[in-house]
Amino acid sequence: MPLGIYKYIIGLWAIPGKYSTMNEIILKKGREKPARQFHPWLFSGAIDKISGSPEPGEIVRVIGCDEDFVALGYYNPFSQIQIRLLEWNDNISIDKAWWEHRLATAIESRSRFKNDEDTNAYRLVFGEADFLPGLIVDKYADFIVMQSLTRGIEAVKDIIAGSLNRLLKPTGIYERSDASIRSMERLKAAKGRLVGEEPPDLLDINENGLKFRIDIKNGQKTGFYLDQRDNRMIASRYVLGGRMLDCFSYCGGFAVYALRGGADSVMLVDSSQESLALAKTNLILNGLDTEQVEYRIGDAFRTLRDLREAGSQFDLVVLDPPKFASSKSHLQKALAGYKDINLTAMQILRPGGILVTFSCSGAVTLDSLKMAVFWASVDAHRQVQILQTMHHAEDHPRLLSFPEGEYLKGMICRVE
Ligand code: SAH
Repeated sequence: MPLGIYKYIIGLWAIPGKYSTMNEIILKKGREKPARQFHPWLFSGAIDKISGSPEPGEIVRVIGCDEDFVALGYYNPFSQIQIRLLEWNDNISIDKAWWEHRLATAIESRSRFKNDEDTNAYRLVFGEADFLPGLIVDKYADFIVMQSLTRGIEAVKDIIAGSLNRLLKPTGIYERSDASIRSMERLKAAKGRLVGEEPPDLLDINENGLKFRIDIKNGQKTGFYLDQRDNRMIASRYVLGGRMLDCFSYCGGFAVYALRGGADSVMLVDSSQESLALAKTNLILNGLDTEQVEYRIGDAFRTLRDLREAGSQFDLVVLDPPKFASSKSHLQKALAGYKDINLTAMQILRPGGILVTFSCSGAVTLDSLKMAVFWASVDAHRQVQILQTMHHAEDHPRLLSFPEGEYLKGMICRVE
């Protein structure tokens, strides 16, 4: 292990009020404002000088060109985001107790879920928005899934797992650090049991009184799209007695809610066979009428066109595609993709039907999604009313000083 990380873990440097051993990053003139306003990222372009030789993942002290303290953060020279800021108080040191306190605060802020018997799966830590950049922690019934996305978190992974174990006493903690963005930090994928028991291959959770059987070891994200919890509920209110299309269904979240909400029939579309198999299990688990369910495995762009050519009509269509734009440079192509699926969706909606449309691309704002749907409506010759706009659920907070964290946006539209 590099010496810096070792020093960091045993906390030798973490003597309150003394930073003599800590490396310092001096910012360029005029580049410290966002950091002072609690934006947690510093890019290489903002850095003027580095004093000392911090190891990747090590805590550094960030100071302005006037030598005034700005914040403490962790450093990674391999990443475009070279420093992620953690602490703006100069008198506090980042040691084991600091990490545990931050985790406890994030957990405490979800206390309303503790009393909700109908929901036992939710996000406990949402990275930057919970003042713990690079860390995701999800609770799935009695298991915890942890995801480390950066070098800084990687360096304290054991400390975090230990704290989570003390604070939550789960049956087990499982690591799902296999997100592709880790490569931007020059980190390899890591996966497996960290503490306690190994989770079963499929685990049952409850969400709003519905049951879902999910795969936390190999499923998408950390096993389930917790961020859509509220939006599934909202969408299900619009489907009374109608025919619903759950496009990009994964394991059937929107379809399960819609059938419970009174949909007559649903069709699920996803390119992943395993996801559709799990969706079927989930519909059965909830005692829903599977006679009224149809599955289409394949590319949604193609399937939507096939449905249009076949003259299919739906009362409600959900479009919850994967990320189309991984960065701003892919924005135009992504917007063309959103326009395409929204156009075909409008063409298979009966007059007055409901379109539930999402984008989970961070680079796509709600305004740009609106624009893509607007151009789709022009081509479809349909007038569209927005009934509601949506975001990720409250266990995925949106930090005012960090708009980049708002990745999920959606609209409920009536298509005349
Ligand atoms: N609506 C889901 C989450 C959807 S995630 C929920 O509420 O849980 C996006 C889904 O799109 C994934 O299941 C993925 O397998 C699927 N997918 C990705 N590309 C696709 C494509 N081209 N056609 C159809 N499905 C696709």
